[in-house]
Amino acid sequence: MTFQLPDLDYAYDALEPHLDALTMEIHHSKHHAGYTAKLNAAISGTALEGSSIEDILSACADSPGIRNNGGGYWNHCFFWESMSPSSSSAGPSGSLSEAIKSAFGSFEEFKSEFKKAALTRFGSGWAWLCMGDNGLSICSTPNQDNPLMNIGGCGDTPILGIDVWEHAYYKKFGPGRGDYIDAWWNVVNWGVIEDRFNSASQ
Ligand code: MN
Repeated sequence: MTFQLPDLDYAYDALEPHLDALTMEIHHSKHHAGYTAKLNAAISGTALEGSSIEDILSACADSPGIRNNGGGYWNHCFFWESMSPSSSSAGPSGSLSEAIKSAFGSFEEFKSEFKKAALTRFGSGWAWLCMGDNGLSICSTPNQDNPLMNIGGCGDTPILGIDVWEHAYYKKFGPGRGDYIDAWWNVVNWGVIEDRFNSASQ
């Protein structure tokens, strides 16, 4: 069994004008495809060959090739599913909306704290919204690490993540990582995030 690059549920230009088509195409067909191929090569012939990606990520801390490419594979699958051309700019509803107010005070305050985590991640990495025993929390990881690896104090169940590698925004936004984050809110698929939150809350 090998991992496959997933198709997107929308066209490369479907997230315009917020995320540009060329960035989406390169990000999916080059970067994500590269992580997928390198993950398959890295686990080939090892004890992790045939394991689920979740099992691989929980056991990869000491294997840089599997850690970087397994994280890259999973993170981008999660990222594409987190976005939609028909996002609701009003944000989440229902129990997730209530949990955000409980944890952060308001949706606007949540967005401010999440943006801060994404902006202050030095170099390449990700920012995450996670659900755990103590409710919602925000954390960030370097490179292609993620909360499923449970290293570096970021280990609850991720329900939303933003890629802040320069390859995710530089063509359109240049060094303006904050402008990219502001635009990205317009394409978050809150229905998917609510489903993840409800699963993680059970
Ligand atoms: Mn990326």
